[in-house]
Amino acid sequence: MGIRARIDLAALRGNFSVLRRAAPGSRAFAVVKADAYGHGALQVARALSGVADGFAVARLGEAIELRDGGIQDPILLLEGVSADDDLAAALAAGLDLVVHEPGQIAMFRRLAARGVHSAPIVWLKVDTGMNRLGFRPEAVLEARSQLLACGVALRDLRLMTHFARADEPGVDTTPAQLARFASIVTAWEQLSGSRPVVSIGNSAGTLLWPAGQGDWIRPGIALYGVPPSAERGGGDGLAPVMTLSTEVIAVREVPRGETVGYGGTWQAARDSKIAILAAGYADGLPRHLPSGAPVAFRAGHAPLAGRVSMDMIAVDVTDLPAIAVGERAVLWGEGLPVETVAGWAGTIAYELLCAVAPRVPREYVG
Ligand SMILES: *Cc1c(COP(=O)(O)O)cnc(C)c1O
Repeated sequence: MGIRARIDLAALRGNFSVLRRAAPGSRAFAVVKADAYGHGALQVARALSGVADGFAVARLGEAIELRDGGIQDPILLLEGVSADDDLAAALAAGLDLVVHEPGQIAMFRRLAARGVHSAPIVWLKVDTGMNRLGFRPEAVLEARSQLLACGVALRDLRLMTHFARADEPGVDTTPAQLARFASIVTAWEQLSGSRPVVSIGNSAGTLLWPAGQGDWIRPGIALYGVPPSAERGGGDGLAPVMTLSTEVIAVREVPRGETVGYGGTWQAARDSKIAILAAGYADGLPRHLPSGAPVAFRAGHAPLAGRVSMDMIAVDVTDLPAIAVGERAVLWGEGLPVETVAGWAGTIAYELLCAVAPRVPREYVG
């Protein structure tokens, strides 16, 4: 059977319910960018179609893949588009768009001149402190007027922002971002006479900052069962969706003093039993995952021994009883949280999940 990623769609729906309960007054985009964080965008979207209020992706191609797969729910392009033809394609596919910079408004104007037959919802993005995408607060109302006058009929013009540090304990940047956002909402309301629909929180914003939920939440990582913050938790009730597992393809005795693997970076401090597993960096394991990182066998956890190769890893199973060829082991997921492995690798769960390679078969259950 080799390496495979089992994707538990029942756990996915359960996690979505946890987010719903955490934000009962909000609608929810399920964020399925980057192939649903490695879980398979179309399968995840099918499992949540009609359950979530819409989907959010980063790029046009990701949205088209969902439409081609039959997903008719609202889809939001989180980065908007960066070319006129892409805007035309996005509108033809009935997508909603983020507008975060002036050039995108100019695209709307040029497209209006060509004639547009759909009326998208546009989410005007405000940069409240992340300094990545969005109009600065003092430029938002001008961008609003330009969009309203761009010549394309908008079904609605809404406001969104994004937190930079909602997952961190003891920082005051999130309340500061919320305060900046609130003053823009107020100014907008005074100008137009009605409060805009707003979207603020990602997973951490939703679960750790109830004030930051807004009308539409945008959870990603929590859907896949990862608590939004290593330090602050917030993951009660979430269950891992992906379990990446593989099998032992060889078991060998390594005498004390010998080394294992490329570079000889792991040396046996005692006569050791080493299991070779079919999983490597070509499957998405980080090559820099260090010796000592845990791998979960039925009988318990055992430490990685030496460098991750392209297709294989070595694990020191000396302390486990009777590990045999064919036995399966979990690299992350059930019994070994992906965030734990990410900690060993010096990264975050997002990166590990997104990096699971196309050659790893996904098996859907639930
Ligand atoms: C990716 C993304 C999200 C989802 O973030 P999580 O931390 O995975 O919940 C929400 N909003 C925007 C703008 C994003 O780019």
